[in-house]
Amino acid sequence: MIRINENYKKLQSSYLFSDIAKRVTAFQKENPEKKIIKLGIGDVTRPLPKACIDAMHKATDEMNDIKTFRGYGPEQGYDFLREAIAKNDYQLRGINIAPDEVFVSDGAKCDCGNIQEIFASDIAVAIPDPVYPVYLDTNVMAGRTGFYSNGRYDGIVYLDGTAENGFVPDLPSKRADLIYLCFPNNPTGATITKEDLKKWVDYARENKAIILYDAAYEAFIRDDALPRSIFEIKGARDVAIEFRSFSKSAGFTGVRCAYTVVPKDCCAYTTDGEKTALNGLWNRRHTTKFNSVSYPVQRAAEAVYSSEGKAQVKALTDYYLKNATLIRKEINALGFDSIGGENSPYIWVNGKTDSWAFFDRLLKEAGVVVTPGAGFGKCGQGYIRISAFNNHEDVEEAMGRIREALS
Ligand code: PLP
Repeated sequence: MIRINENYKKLQSSYLFSDIAKRVTAFQKENPEKKIIKLGIGDVTRPLPKACIDAMHKATDEMNDIKTFRGYGPEQGYDFLREAIAKNDYQLRGINIAPDEVFVSDGAKCDCGNIQEIFASDIAVAIPDPVYPVYLDTNVMAGRTGFYSNGRYDGIVYLDGTAENGFVPDLPSKRADLIYLCFPNNPTGATITKEDLKKWVDYARENKAIILYDAAYEAFIRDDALPRSIFEIKGARDVAIEFRSFSKSAGFTGVRCAYTVVPKDCCAYTTDGEKTALNGLWNRRHTTKFNSVSYPVQRAAEAVYSSEGKAQVKALTDYYLKNATLIRKEINALGFDSIGGENSPYIWVNGKTDSWAFFDRLLKEAGVVVTPGAGFGKCGQGYIRISAFNNHEDVEEAMGRIREALS
């Protein structure tokens, strides 16, 4: 009898976005004339930077010529892209990262979901709440948790994000071997200071733990005092892995390109205490299970680092940040506390009521869709997430409608 991986039975169905869709459809049916504005989902709306489109066209033409045609590329990514990433995102910022520490992939979602398989199944995993659900669910699938009860899985060390800690979790009180952190954060928009990030790096060094640092929203950081990479923190090369993506920086959500940085100094241990480099393990995993990203897409990603590409990515992220500033200003003027929206495309709002009740009110009274915070974990109850990924005119209209409905 063939048997299933029963850990999948422990997973909670993610009703969040399907529940939202159901409520929106029902509302639209009752109000067919009403234009609904969606500030819920975290997907980009603007076209790709011209530099990326031009590079993709050129690379596609190369594939049409026998002299320049390419088949399989290196699994870890072409050297031209790994070198551009190491140089522009790290070395030019004074951070010591080499091209062979960069692994190109088709998404930070896959990478931060897959990385857990290079670690033992009986380690203690620390995961923030509220959270981007991929970290939690992939550890459930791998059997690192018990069952789900009262909004939490047994065996996970939850790192609570609260108004008191500004949604930057405190160090765990229980042992944690593998720690997930994400800054600027999805869903809260919180950022972390270098001082606070250093506490985590020091914790990991003292406890022989590893930090998985998701920096998918790094391109939205404008405050130079904030760390763009965990590798800006002394000692992080020994204890951290970083995930980055072109999805939110250059609008690649539908194009697919991202990368993971695994420094050669970053190590974990065998049961016998033998120190083992994670770069080698991830390289083995990546080359065994992945065949890299298409050549035209890697050329498009490389173009992000040209001078035009850099300016166009800055303009693109500035556009969404302008939306974020407007959302934050309007929501605060209505008397709601919020965080995020300053170096992040997400605004996390204390709705002072049940998350879903606030969601329904905004939908019914303003025709605006947001995301109920309760869908991101127990600590998200009472909050909503507003996304700045939309056209500026629609954001202006949405905030005008919310102002009218709530004031
Ligand atoms: N990490 C975080 C925190 C995200 O919010 C997202 C996407 O929303 C991702 C990773 C996934 O990025 P990618 O499009 O590269 O898979």
